[in-house]
Amino acid sequence: MDAYQTLRDSFRWEDAGASLAGLPGGGLNMAYEALDRHVAEGRQDRLAIRWLPKSGEAVDLTFGELTRRTNRLAGGLGRLGYRFEQGFGVATLLGRVPELYVTALGTLKAGGVYTPLFSAFGTDPIVMRLRLGRIGVLVTTAVAYRRKVATLRKELPDLRHVILVGGGAGSFEDPTVLDFDDVVGHGEDTFEIAATEATDRALLHFTSGTTGTPKGALHVHGAVVAHAVTGRIALDLREGDVFWCTADPGWVTGTSYGIISPLVNGVTSIVDEADFDGERWYRILHEQRVDVFYTAPTALRMLQRAGMDVAHATDLSALRLVASVGEPLDPESVEWARQAFGVPILDNWWQTETGGIMIANYRTEPVKPGSMGRPLPGITAGLLRIDGDGELVVDGDGQPVEIPADSDEVGELALEIGWPSMFVGYLDQQERYARSFVGRWYHSGDLARRDHDGYYWFVGRNNDVIKSAGHLIGPFEIESALSEHPAVVESAAIGKPDALVGAIVKSFVVLASGYEPTDELRLELIGHGRRRLGAAVAPREIEFVDHLPHTRSGKIMRRLLKARELGLEEGDTSTLEVLS
Ligand code: ATP
Ligand code: MG
Repeated sequence: MDAYQTLRDSFRWEDAGASLAGLPGGGLNMAYEALDRHVAEGRQDRLAIRWLPKSGEAVDLTFGELTRRTNRLAGGLGRLGYRFEQGFGVATLLGRVPELYVTALGTLKAGGVYTPLFSAFGTDPIVMRLRLGRIGVLVTTAVAYRRKVATLRKELPDLRHVILVGGGAGSFEDPTVLDFDDVVGHGEDTFEIAATEATDRALLHFTSGTTGTPKGALHVHGAVVAHAVTGRIALDLREGDVFWCTADPGWVTGTSYGIISPLVNGVTSIVDEADFDGERWYRILHEQRVDVFYTAPTALRMLQRAGMDVAHATDLSALRLVASVGEPLDPESVEWARQAFGVPILDNWWQTETGGIMIANYRTEPVKPGSMGRPLPGITAGLLRIDGDGELVVDGDGQPVEIPADSDEVGELALEIGWPSMFVGYLDQQERYARSFVGRWYHSGDLARRDHDGYYWFVGRNNDVIKSAGHLIGPFEIESALSEHPAVVESAAIGKPDALVGAIVKSFVVLASGYEPTDELRLELIGHGRRRLGAAVAPREIEFVDHLPHTRSGKIMRRLLKARELGLEEGDTSTLEVLS
C-alpha cells in the first residue's frame, strides 16, 4: 500500500481539528489560530510576512507585530461601533500591502466578515460587490476611493465607513471617511477576540466570474482546519519555511493560501507588491530562498517565455515544491519545470466554493503530467454521470449515478459533503446553493475523468464542453495538444454550432513571436491537431488572435469567445462586468 493510501486511511478531520488551539475562552477564530496562538506559544519573533514593496527595502513583520497591529485595527472597528453580535462586513480594495493583511485578520478578530476586492477592478464590479455584500466598512486608498467609489456612495446605504490607507481623508470633507492611521493609532496593543464559533461566518468571497456573474460564497471560521491541513499535505508547508503564494489576495487562493494557511502553519510568506515581471520573480525565488512556490499556469507560462537560460542562470536550490492552481496545467509545463526548477509542478484543483485544495499531486507521490492528482486525505471525490446535455443523471430515487472506479467515462466532479471549508451559502441565492448538492454530493460544475490509479484528469467546465457528432470533447485536451506546437503560445477551443454534427471544434490561437498568421500555418496546426487528437476531435477551424480574453484572475473566458462567434456580444452584460 502506498504512503498516500496509508495517510488517507488514518486521516480524520476530528484529529486535524484537535491540532488547532481554539480560543482561550472556548470557540474558534481564524485570526487567533493564524497569529495569537504563535505568540501565546512563544513564537512572537518569528517572521510572518516579508513584504517586498514595488521599490525600496523589504519590510519584515513578525507574528508579534502582526498580532499587535491587528489588535489595534480590531479595537478601532469596535470604537466605530462594529460588534460581532450584530454582524458586519469589511472589504479591502488594496494592492498587496501590509494593511490588507492587518485588515483581513483584524476584521476576523473583531468578529466581522472579510471580503477582498481585487484592486484593479473598475467602478462597476466594485460597487456591485459592495452592494451585494452589504459591506459596512471599505478599506482602500484615497485615489481608489475618489476614482471608483465616492461618486456612487449614495447607492451604497450600508457602507458606513471608508478607511484610507496612506491618509487623505481630510480632503473628502465627509465624517465617514477616516484615515487608517487614526483608526488604529489610538488603539491598544491588546484586544479581546470576539467569541466566534466554528460555525460563524468569517469570509465572503466572490468567484472569478468565468462562467457568468460572480457568486458570493460564504465561509465560516471552522474552515481554518482545512486551510491548515491542506497547506501541510498538498503544499508540504513546514515550520520555518519561506513560502510564496503569488495569487492576489483579491481572490480566494490569495486568502486561503496567501494569508491563513501559511500563518497558521508558522510559515514565512513573501508578499510582493509589484505585478508580474519574469526577472524580478526569478530574483525573488533566489534571493528569498523560497522553499515552496504556489502559482498559476498563466504565470508559469510567462516564466517559460523568459527562457530556460534565465532559469538555469538562477540558483533555485532552495525550492522544494512548486504547485499550480486555477486553470488546467498542460503536461508540457510540468516537464519544463522539471528542467527549469529541478522539481515538477504539482497541479492541484479546488474552487472558491470548496475553500481549500481538494485534489492534488503530492511531493512524495508519482506525478502524472496533465493530471490534477488525487483527493486530499479526508476528501472523498467522485464522478457523477451526465447525459448528452450535460445534466446529471438521477436514478428512480432521485439519487445521482456514480461512475464506477474502473471506468474512464467523463463525469461531473463531485465531493462528498462534510469537509470543514465547504461554503455555507451563496449570498442571497439560497436556491442556487441548494442546487449545488445532490444526494450526499456537492457537484462542482467541472468535468473530469479518473484513471485506474485514481488520478483525476480535468476535462473542462460543464458549460464549456463541446458536443460534436456524439462525442464529448473537453477544450483542455484540444488546447494541450495545440500547445505542444512551437508556434502556439496559448489557445482556446469552443464549439461552433454546426447543422450536421451539432458543433465543430474551433480554436483561437495566439502565436509565439516570430510566427506569421498564414494559411500555411493554419493548415499545419490543423494537421498537428488531427495527428494528436484524431479527426473527430481535432479543431476544424483555427482563428489567429493577438490575445485571448481573460478574467481579472487570469482565466480564459471561453464563453466570451462563444458569444462573439454567435454575435451575442452586446447583450451579455456579465461579460462587460468582467472587462470593465
Ligand atoms: P465562476 O464560478 O463565477 O464562473 P470560477 O469558477 O472561475 O468563477 P473560481 O472559484 O476562482 O471561479 O475558480 C475555480 C475553477 O477554476 C474550477 O471550478 C475549475 O474550473 C478551475 N480550476 C481550478 N483549478 C484547476 C486545475 N488545477 N485544473 C483545471 N481547472 C482548474
Ligand atoms: Mg466556479
